[in-house]
Amino acid sequence: MKKEELKEKLLSLNESDYYSIADLHIHSNESDGRMTPVEIIINAQRKYLKLISVTDHNTINAYINTNILKEEILVTGVEFDCWYKGVLIHILGYGFDIDNEELKSLYANTKAGCKFNLYRLFKLRNPKEVIEKINNAGGMAVLAHPCCYWSLNLDNMVKELLDMGLEGIEVYYPYNGLRRIVKFHSRKEVIKIAEKYNLIKTGGSDVHGKKLL
Ligand SMILES: [Zn+2]
Ligand SMILES: [Zn+2]
Repeated sequence: MKKEELKEKLLSLNESDYYSIADLHIHSNESDGRMTPVEIIINAQRKYLKLISVTDHNTINAYINTNILKEEILVTGVEFDCWYKGVLIHILGYGFDIDNEELKSLYANTKAGCKFNLYRLFKLRNPKEVIEKINNAGGMAVLAHPCCYWSLNLDNMVKELLDMGLEGIEVYYPYNGLRRIVKFHSRKEVIKIAEKYNLIKTGGSDVHGKKLL
């Protein structure tokens, strides 16, 4: 799916769509999830989802090791770790070319690089590099679960990421479920920032378990 087509599709989705027909944040067992990529597709079809993305930590092996990309409901995805001024943040990439050479330098080359946070911390990437490479690979960069970042001024952070080429922000996200996530900012604050900077609002379940939510 080309970037413009993807953006158009994302702009047509609203909040309730993210809780019914779209899930753009799914982990497979190529990172720390429990479903195989094929199980994700089967699950999504059973639930009649219209748009999904497998967004493993620092790897696109779900797309490389299977032929799931032929599925029309699927858009390429990945979730990169990076450091922004001492804060670990996650940047999602969507709709990029999986054969892009520049982006290949960002993928983890060991299984540990795709597993739990603590094992991945050695990877020191900066958001500028990550966002630029996603863009150069024809994709769009989205800030994942912004309420989770220990950052004094989320607005400033987003503004700086925007200048680096960020185009979206994950707004619809189950903060209260999953992984006992600590929240530093409210969803209301995030929506305000998204609207202020004209960012595309995306969403996903960040599911790691045995079936889609
Ligand atoms: Zn994340
Ligand atoms: Zn995730």
